[in-house]
Amino acid sequence: MKESKHTTWTKAKAVEYYGINRWGRSQFSISKDGHLCVDPLSDGQRIDLFEVVREATAIGLQPPLTIRLQDMLHQRVFQLNQAFEKAIEDERYKGRYRGVFPIKVNQLKEVVEEILDAGKPFQFGLEAGSKPELLIAMAMLDSNEPLLLCNGYKDEEYIRLALMGRRLGRQVILVIEQLSEVDTILRLTKKLNVEPMIGIRLKLNSQGEGKWATSAGDNAKFGLSTMEVVSTCKKLKKAGLTDALQLIHFHIGSQVPNILPIKQAVTEATRFYCEISKLGFPLKYLDVGGGLGIDYDGSKSNFESSMNYSMEVYARDVVFNIKSVCESASIPPPDIVSESGRAIVAPHSILITEVVDRIAKVETSPKPPRRKHRHQSITDLLYILNSKERYGGLERFHDAQQKKEEIQSLFSLGFLDLESRAEAESLYWQICKDIQQSCLNQGYIPEELAELNGLLAEQYVCNFSVFQSLLDHWALKQLFPIMPIHRLDEEPTVATTLVDITCDSDGKISEYIDLEDVRHSLLLHEFKRSAPYYLGIFLVGAYQDILGDLHNLFGRVNEVHVYVDRDEENGFYIEESISGFSTDEVLNFIQYKGTELSRRMKQQIDQATKNNQLRAREGVRLLSEYTELLKAKTYLTPKARPRKRKPAT
Ligand code: PLP
Repeated sequence: MKESKHTTWTKAKAVEYYGINRWGRSQFSISKDGHLCVDPLSDGQRIDLFEVVREATAIGLQPPLTIRLQDMLHQRVFQLNQAFEKAIEDERYKGRYRGVFPIKVNQLKEVVEEILDAGKPFQFGLEAGSKPELLIAMAMLDSNEPLLLCNGYKDEEYIRLALMGRRLGRQVILVIEQLSEVDTILRLTKKLNVEPMIGIRLKLNSQGEGKWATSAGDNAKFGLSTMEVVSTCKKLKKAGLTDALQLIHFHIGSQVPNILPIKQAVTEATRFYCEISKLGFPLKYLDVGGGLGIDYDGSKSNFESSMNYSMEVYARDVVFNIKSVCESASIPPPDIVSESGRAIVAPHSILITEVVDRIAKVETSPKPPRRKHRHQSITDLLYILNSKERYGGLERFHDAQQKKEEIQSLFSLGFLDLESRAEAESLYWQICKDIQQSCLNQGYIPEELAELNGLLAEQYVCNFSVFQSLLDHWALKQLFPIMPIHRLDEEPTVATTLVDITCDSDGKISEYIDLEDVRHSLLLHEFKRSAPYYLGIFLVGAYQDILGDLHNLFGRVNEVHVYVDRDEENGFYIEESISGFSTDEVLNFIQYKGTELSRRMKQQIDQATKNNQLRAREGVRLLSEYTELLKAKTYLTPKARPRKRKPAT
């Protein structure tokens, strides 16, 4: 393969630096052209992601672009079911696995359809957390075998709809999350004359870990306390609905990084299952909720962006713990339900963004200008710059900071002119760069100096919105793997941080995955205006698609759904393409009508033409450009680049 022309950079170094083998589950590799490839079915059929972008661009769908690998959804549903089936077989467990997909994790039609299709052989069901989700789930699940679980806050309409599902013969289970739901369920059951299937969500003592740990414990928003469980059981018995109570459920939060709290929660919930069974309720299902993680940073640790267990270990531990508790209580083991969302959908979606500009944060002039009189503070900074041999990095950094603050005060008080301040700032950044360089080969680097990497990094401006496409990074600092999808045979030499195109200083990615802790900057290739430079943001298929908001009115990005196809030259085909929002679609959401805006613009243009501020021809052109822009996409339009001429033959 063609490796870098100038350095000892190799494809293996790119694999190592970007952690591909750690977060990529052996499904990502680098082609001989230095492009990132993905093997969605783990069968050796690789898809070149740069080629996918090229093909999408050719049909007018430029980045920002979501690539959905539909085969990967299929594979993940299969893997999850297989993991449980294997654990059940190995443990000689007497119950079955009855998984459901919680559609709140990604409600997009094509995603849900693909999951249901892949789940058919396993009777894989759905979980709904709201009325709109239940409306989707009822229509999409057209079989009487899979479970349809109803969670979340419920009003009468929600409960009535779920009960009518029972009349259709569906396995709809109303999971009681609040005590107040019980009476409404009992009343409507009587009124509609249906046999309900009921579940109870427990408020466990065992809590999860990580960013979503507050989903369980005493202060959790959902679930019944032990007293409420007892009172619900009494009410159901009194209403003659003992047989209706079939499921016990808990959810200790999403992305649980540590297997220990999962084991504890499973054990505690199974104890509830056994005790409630002993009260005479013929329970059938134990629902262990979501929480199965994704190893975003590939460190296999209990760090919040990682997980210290695999899908197989998770299934084994769930099955084993339920079995042991049931055995010691002499209660028949339940069918096991899990509501794993993230683990199924996160890997299938990749966001591609194009770097459109660079902002060098700290432009330094290497030689200070000659001056007759220098302020003492600037002379001090020069001294700090040249005293590398004498003082340590941390001491020089603190001295430089002190001087910088002094200089800012002097400037504010009128004792320093603009040029002197510029010179001082330039010296300050030179000192920081110098300290950063001297830290390169050191083992331990104090936190303040480690942060210099992020501070000194160049900002690469990427055509996307963090608020639309990566909301969990903004809200919760969740990490995602990010790397270029091409030029991987070239050494990345520029330390960068990524910023989006929203006009919000929070619209940035300031932390990146690392094996230990986080990186504050990411090495990328030199930005060239003459050719596109694409970055991929990986594992974004869970929650991000749906959480996105309309900040700055950018809205949804272009999207292609890709399938493996061995008969195609590139090994893939784009089955469906969905155009991102146009400006007038987005404006419609906030009650602006394109025609009305154009009419208002025309009035202003006519007036300006009458007042001779604008020539008639200019007015016509302005109005036409305005209406064209209303129809156009919201994100930046990529620059037209000169096409490479074909060599003369
Ligand atoms: N079930 C319930 C009740 C949830 O609240 C959630 C999400 O937090 C899930 C399932 C899905 O969790 P995960 O995506 O971690 O599998």
